[in-house]
Amino acid sequence: MKCQGAVMRGVGHDWEIQEITLDPPREGEVLVKMAVAGICHSDDHFTTGDMVPTPGLASIMEATGAPVPEYFPMLGGHEGAGVIEEVGPGVRSVKPGDRVAFSFIAACGACRWCVSGMTYLCDNGAMMLAKEMTTDGTARRHLGDEDLTAMTQLGTFAEYAVLAEESVIKIDDSIPFEAASLVSCGVTTGWGSGTVGVGTQPGDTVVIIGAGGVGINAVQGARAAGANAVIAVDPVEFKRDTAKFFGATDSCPSVEEAIPLVRGLTMGVMADRVVLTPGVLHAELLAPAMMLTRKGGTCLMTAVPKFDVNTVPLILVDFVQSCKTLKGLIYGGMNPRASMPMLLSMYRNGNLKLDELVTKRYRLDQINDAITDMREGRNIRGIIEFD
Ligand SMILES: [Zn+2]
Ligand SMILES: [Zn+2]
Repeated sequence: MKCQGAVMRGVGHDWEIQEITLDPPREGEVLVKMAVAGICHSDDHFTTGDMVPTPGLASIMEATGAPVPEYFPMLGGHEGAGVIEEVGPGVRSVKPGDRVAFSFIAACGACRWCVSGMTYLCDNGAMMLAKEMTTDGTARRHLGDEDLTAMTQLGTFAEYAVLAEESVIKIDDSIPFEAASLVSCGVTTGWGSGTVGVGTQPGDTVVIIGAGGVGINAVQGARAAGANAVIAVDPVEFKRDTAKFFGATDSCPSVEEAIPLVRGLTMGVMADRVVLTPGVLHAELLAPAMMLTRKGGTCLMTAVPKFDVNTVPLILVDFVQSCKTLKGLIYGGMNPRASMPMLLSMYRNGNLKLDELVTKRYRLDQINDAITDMREGRNIRGIIEFD
């Protein structure tokens, strides 16, 4: 079938609305009609080149025999929700008419990591940005005679998507599509980061650095996990004010200003937990973030760094002698198939704010405006609505 989708040609290009071709779902695959797609920062890292090897790095990778990824042309979008339109042979967890949210990892449920409760580390993650399906290794999405990479095997910036069954999670009919879309990436990642990911305990002081679509949910999560104080750090005043609405007890514009603030709030102990959720994880953030972390405390990185960052300044004496933990994590350490229904149940009972996250709604052809608004810090979450 043919439909409209937002395609990225390469670093520095705008998104282009193009007619794309989707093959029918095969064994273990589904066709989904998109209802809502979320504007999450990760797609933009391909436009800016953060996630793309520089020519210099690519030639080093080539010389060492490492595979150099071919991301373009790319169909964007990795957050969203929709309705199952058609199922291929062997699909059992969903049927036509079911509402689904998407997982940006098509977790297989059978590999070592999946059966150990770490579906975010599923071996299928290796194919997250491949042009081929995780099901049978052949391509299903095309632009003319080229195969398309669908962002994280999803490609939600399109009217329809052909997906592995593992990429979709059935949700209750009573859940609005917007809420389902929100938990498909940003909310789950943020909530998980502020709770189980960084290990928040009742009474903790937690610092969240970056109060955007992910960080704001780390604020909600930390507060729900019983944090005594939650300090939101963000240069944008609107985001600091929003963080207060979502449960932050204090806020400040920069990590440098957070150090004396947290010192005062904790009588010199510093924060039990620090969560890094900025738009881009710059290496320079690490040293002050570790200064914010108390003895024996944990600093969690939940953000996309630039592909070619390989030098990180850390004060090693403090790191070792103060027994600090620096941890990297995706999906906030949550297992989408379990956590999305759990979060949506909290939402239904009024214990998780989702509707309040949406700042602005767009049509698919306004995708570049939506991305610009996100870059400029005007939105907590932008949403694309489909017919
Ligand atoms: Zn995302
Ligand atoms: Zn797996």
